[in-house]
Amino acid sequence: MDRAVDDFGFEHVPETDQSFENALAKARAGDRLTVDDGVELLTTGTDHEGIDPRRKEQVLEAADRRRAEVVGEEVTFVANLNNNVTTACNTGCLFCNFKDTAANFERDSGVDHPGFTKTPAESRAVVRDALSRGVYEVTSVSGLHPALALDAEHHEILAGYDAPANQVNYKPPERYDTDPGTYLEQMRAMSRDGAHLHSMTPEEAYHAIRGTDWSYEDAYRRLADAGLASVPGTAAEILVDEVRDVICPGKIRTDDWVEAMEAAATVGLPMTATVMYGHVENEMHRAMHLKVVRDLQDRTGNITEFVPLSFVHRTTPLYERGIVSGGATFEEDELMVAVSRLFLDNVEHVQSSWVKYGDERGLKLLSCGADDFMGTILSEEITKRAGGSEGEFRSVRDYVEMITAVGRVPVERSTDYRTRRVVDPEERPLGPTLGPQADGTPLMASQTAPADD
Ligand code: SF4
Repeated sequence: MDRAVDDFGFEHVPETDQSFENALAKARAGDRLTVDDGVELLTTGTDHEGIDPRRKEQVLEAADRRRAEVVGEEVTFVANLNNNVTTACNTGCLFCNFKDTAANFERDSGVDHPGFTKTPAESRAVVRDALSRGVYEVTSVSGLHPALALDAEHHEILAGYDAPANQVNYKPPERYDTDPGTYLEQMRAMSRDGAHLHSMTPEEAYHAIRGTDWSYEDAYRRLADAGLASVPGTAAEILVDEVRDVICPGKIRTDDWVEAMEAAATVGLPMTATVMYGHVENEMHRAMHLKVVRDLQDRTGNITEFVPLSFVHRTTPLYERGIVSGGATFEEDELMVAVSRLFLDNVEHVQSSWVKYGDERGLKLLSCGADDFMGTILSEEITKRAGGSEGEFRSVRDYVEMITAVGRVPVERSTDYRTRRVVDPEERPLGPTLGPQADGTPLMASQTAPADD
């Protein structure tokens, strides 16, 4: 691995007392893997430099076999919409080009910028249209807009600070061109008419309680009451603080992420978990991250799927400032997916993200341990703004053609996987059927929903 331009002096490095052969034997036998085992598999052995192609294939084969044992030949996807509320954010994560400095959004900034903020009514309109197309899930992950608060009481508490902008990253909505409303108002707007709302990452949950003595559990309970149905375990990046210190020093720490996720589970919300790899971290950090997720799942059982996300480096500060010289190689991607499958013996589904990897490589990862192929994503701002070349939208027909082409069975699923439908490639029309208004019509043939607000 030669991505990191600097040596960060990390305490954790990929050195182990294990051998590749032992780790592979444990993986093949279905034994629970240690962090050292994970490192041996991710590196194809720390006894030599670089990835050994023969050993890599052995790891991929073991993972593919495990996938077949655990979930069979089905490849799932969900009909979903991305509705991100705002790109205003001050957190300054160095891997992110989604955010725009929040000051640009202020009424008197005079700065021309490409960002956006949606009011609850605007979010509602986007969701209403998507539901009429047959969408099931609304995914919403947003920047940490300084005017976003949980509710009116939270606004009052934040405004009561002597220097709220500096102390609690708060400015009142009147300062901005567009008022994003409160988190609870956005939840209500996006969950109406039966939409499954997948939102409020641990980082957003932290923003929703900042400056108060409220717990994550308080926040998630109220968000769930307002319509939140499941939680994306993003903002995880790498759950080792020495890596977070480099790539996202303004973000919550590993312990906070875990605490928030446990709270979401306590409230009964299903959740996903992610890893974003291929920047400054090494294979020891990746394996340690997997251990944090597996431990969390041992305690909660609420993680429905694990989502490996390869860092898209172009146009991010990490790349532009020369802190990294690129992202992960595809061999590393294959091994990350495979070792995720082998290490996370308590998480049923592993996702291949076509937005991050593209169609061809995304399909290949389905033979490395992955069994979920993400969602239709009617709008996808995040990856596009980071310079990713894959984009926008995947129809049910696309899914069926791609999944059957690799000899697997296409299955439309609900977010929590409890509802599934095997899609017959011959059926016409070929569209989603699980959404509250879905009748099998292809997603882009919009039916006009009645204006109800
Ligand atoms: S990753 Fe999230 S919190 Fe970090 S800068 Fe981007 S939008 Fe803000």
